[in-house]
Amino acid sequence: MVETADVLKEVAKEVAVCEKCALHFSRKNAVPGEGPARAEIMFIGEGPGFYENEQGRPFVGNAGKFLDELLQKGGLHREEVFITNVVKCRPPGNRDPLPEELLACGSYLERQIEAIDPCLVVTLGRFSMARFLPNAKISEVHGQASWVKGRLIVAMYHPAAALHQPSLKSTVEEDFTRLPEHIQLVKNVQPARNIQPSKPIESDEPKPPPADDEPTQLTLF
Ligand code: URA
Ligand code: SF4
Repeated sequence: MVETADVLKEVAKEVAVCEKCALHFSRKNAVPGEGPARAEIMFIGEGPGFYENEQGRPFVGNAGKFLDELLQKGGLHREEVFITNVVKCRPPGNRDPLPEELLACGSYLERQIEAIDPCLVVTLGRFSMARFLPNAKISEVHGQASWVKGRLIVAMYHPAAALHQPSLKSTVEEDFTRLPEHIQLVKNVQPARNIQPSKPIESDEPKPPPADDEPTQLTLF
């Protein structure tokens, strides 16, 4: 069996030297994405910006700081989710990714999704949303959950867009605050999945029996 972590490493290795689209000409570092191989929740943004291109890590600039705040509102920590983008190299000047770039880069994201097999995907922005909900309008579906091929998809406004528009900022904050409801839905429908906020990993070692016959401490007056 191919391990998820090995697929993720292989994808990261390939994108680092990928020349499948013109974005490779201007990149400093490709940004494959990061997070635990066993993550059950995946966040998919648009593409690396200035700081991401410098560091090779997703969401480390202003939008990233805001994403951290949003994750907290959703009861999540960055360390327990997988974060990536629809294109792995920075579009110059942070322009929108072009259709041919999305197409060229799509198979990397595809392999990451297939390997991680998240039960909940949160899309950040319309390019990421379009991958799962091709006919949806972000203004109509933001914050809502829908099942696509056995996965719950929640489309959110992009944190960078929301940062620059005060009305969107409160909307995306409210939408993240409702993320625990969607997580609960997945837990109800797919109880076998170990969706975050994750419990500590159970060890296989037998536990001592519960000490249910311990004498109860009596309060002395
Ligand atoms: N915006 C994105 O869409 N992705 C990043 O990684 C950073 C900013
Ligand atoms: Fe390759 Fe994707 Fe980078 Fe284009 S954006 S060069 S397809 S890794």
